[in-house]
Parts: sequence; C-alpha cells; structure tokens
Amino acid sequence: MDNLSFTNHGDLGALAEQAQTADADRIAARLGTEHLSLEDFAILLSPAMSDDLLQRMMNESARLTRLRFGYALSLYIPLYYDNRCVNRCDYCGFNADNHLPRRSLSPREIREEATAIRAQGFTNLLLVAGEHPESADPQFLVPVIRDLHDIGFRSISIEIAPLSEEAYRTLVTEAHLDGLYVYQETYDPIAYAEHHRGPKADYQWRLATPERGARAGIPKIGIGFLLGLGDWRFDAIALAAHLLFLQKHHWQAEFSLSFPRIRTAAGVSGGPRPVSDRDFVQLVCALRLLFPVTPMSLSTRESPAFRDMIIPFGFTNISAGSSTAPGGYTAKGTDLAQFDVVDDRPPSAVAAALKARGFDPVWKDWE
Ligand code: SF4
Repeated sequence: MDNLSFTNHGDLGALAEQAQTADADRIAARLGTEHLSLEDFAILLSPAMSDDLLQRMMNESARLTRLRFGYALSLYIPLYYDNRCVNRCDYCGFNADNHLPRRSLSPREIREEATAIRAQGFTNLLLVAGEHPESADPQFLVPVIRDLHDIGFRSISIEIAPLSEEAYRTLVTEAHLDGLYVYQETYDPIAYAEHHRGPKADYQWRLATPERGARAGIPKIGIGFLLGLGDWRFDAIALAAHLLFLQKHHWQAEFSLSFPRIRTAAGVSGGPRPVSDRDFVQLVCALRLLFPVTPMSLSTRESPAFRDMIIPFGFTNISAGSSTAPGGYTAKGTDLAQFDVVDDRPPSAVAAALKARGFDPVWKDWE
C-alpha cells in the first residue's frame, strides 16, 4: 500500500471543505469542464447547487451514460447463503449481538436457491454472507461456485468477509470467480471506528481488499460506501480518490461503484446521518461526470418510484427481486434478513417497468 495519496485525510478533508463552501458560480464553472479533476468533483457536491444547476448536471449525466452504455441495464440478484457474523456493526441486522435466528445454507440448499433464481432468468449471481470464517473458506466456496456455473450461471461474484490475496487467487483459478464487492462503509477512520467492532474494525485490511482481489486476477471489482454513516461528501471524495488510484495501479480489472443507503433491519435502525433523495441524485450525477465509463449499481434498498426516476442518470446495473434472508427464494420470509428491501417487485415487474421507459434489461453479461 505504498504511495496511497487517497489515504491522506488532510488532503481529502481540504477537498471536503471545498465541497461544503463552493458557491453557485464555482459550481457553474466546473459544470462546463470536459475532463473533471478530483477538485472539480468536490465542488459539484456543494450544498449551494441550485435546482437549475442540478438539472443541467442530471442532463449531462444521463447523456454520458447513454453514450457509453446505451439503454442496456444489467440485472443481478444477491443470494444470501449465511447470516452468521463475527462482527458487530451497529447498523446491520446480522451483527453478532443481534439475537436473530442464524442460518447457513448447505451446498445443496444453495443449489436449490440458485435454481429458483435461475428459473427467473438471471445468469448473474452475487453470493452474499455475513463475515464468518466458515462461509468465507475457499474449500467451501470452490465447489459451490463450480456448481453454480454448472446450473447455468455465467457470472458469479462474492460479497463476503475480505480474504487474503492467496484465497482470492484460489477462487479465480479453481472456480472462475469473476466478481468481488467490498465496501469501505465509511472512509472516515473515526466514524469507521465508532460503528465497527470485531475483525472488521481493521480499517486498513478492508481498504486494501480491492487491491488484493485485483492482484489475484479477479476481473470485476466493486467498491463503495454506505450512505448514512459518515459525512457523505467526504466519503464521496474519498471513494473517487480510491477509484482513481485503483484504475491507475490495477488497470487490468474493471471497477464499479455502489453507494447503498442504510436501511432499517431487525434489531437495528437506520444510520446516524441520513442522506436525502436530492443529495443522492447529486452524488450519482457528479460521479458519472468524473467517471463517464464506470459501471454503477443500484440496490433494492431504494423505493420503486425513486429507482425508476434515478436509473437514467447514471446507473448501469440494478438488483431485482432481492431477498436478504438465507433461504429467502425457496421459503419466503424476512425474519432472518440483513435489512428491509424497499423495492420488493418481482424481477419481471422491474424488467417491465424498465422496458416501458425504453431500457433494455439484460439478464446476462457475456454478450
Ligand atoms: S455489515 Fe457485514 S460484517 Fe457488519 S455485522 Fe453486518 S454482515 Fe456482519
């Protein structure tokens, strides 16, 4: 982790200060810039953004997204296979102090869940688990991922406990893992320390996870943060700096972005610093202007109406039909869920809503 300028929190803090104080004239000047710098991006996050300027930014963001991605939107679905967790993140229903029923699916049960998902048309699958040594053991995962390929999934990704470079390499070479998602939750080390207990409290280990994955040869890597934990403007600037660093040093991987908002779950409530719909729109558009060709994912944590409204302004991948409870696709029920899904429309309804707006929902991503 040498020369990581993005971890200089003094620099990031100075940019966050600019993001807070930039006036409308400075925002307007940056909006006309073709190739944005990190400083330009920070200014586009300013609270002084007027409705007119925001509309201009939304128009430009939508134009850039169509230019690079057309009207295709890739659909994916998470398969939660284990809700055991050794951590105690205070915003999550899976945290170890929360006395909810724990369930870890066997390889056979994972296959049954995946078969139910496959029958809905999906060929991209995201395997999700709480952080537990058994659910993250490559000896467990290699045969599971191979089996999922055998039943027709083309793209398998994981969102589980951060692993070593060697473990990621095993998953790539022995099971053709092609995606890794790991979110920093917040880039502010003080806020990070406040909200995390357990092995996950190691901020640096988590921060270096995308690099370990890239060095191991994982082709697609998603990074992001959780909206609602820290100052979203600071986190957005740090995320952008992180992505610029990764793109420069690990150009062989394709990186994507996600920034889910904290939602309520059994035993926990939403985050301490809620982010408004307007701020969310501003963030999406500013990121698209800085990163015109980077995929961005939107989760079912947002309401159907808000998802349908915001998708054109930057998103390229969306989850649909999600259950966040292990076993949730073959035996519906949310008592084991990590958080409450807000958009609970079936995938066919999500696809129909997209088609009605001129989009082309894509259930596979190898073409
Ligand atoms: S956010 Fe992840 S690591 Fe934290 S308690 Fe939830 S499942 Fe565990």
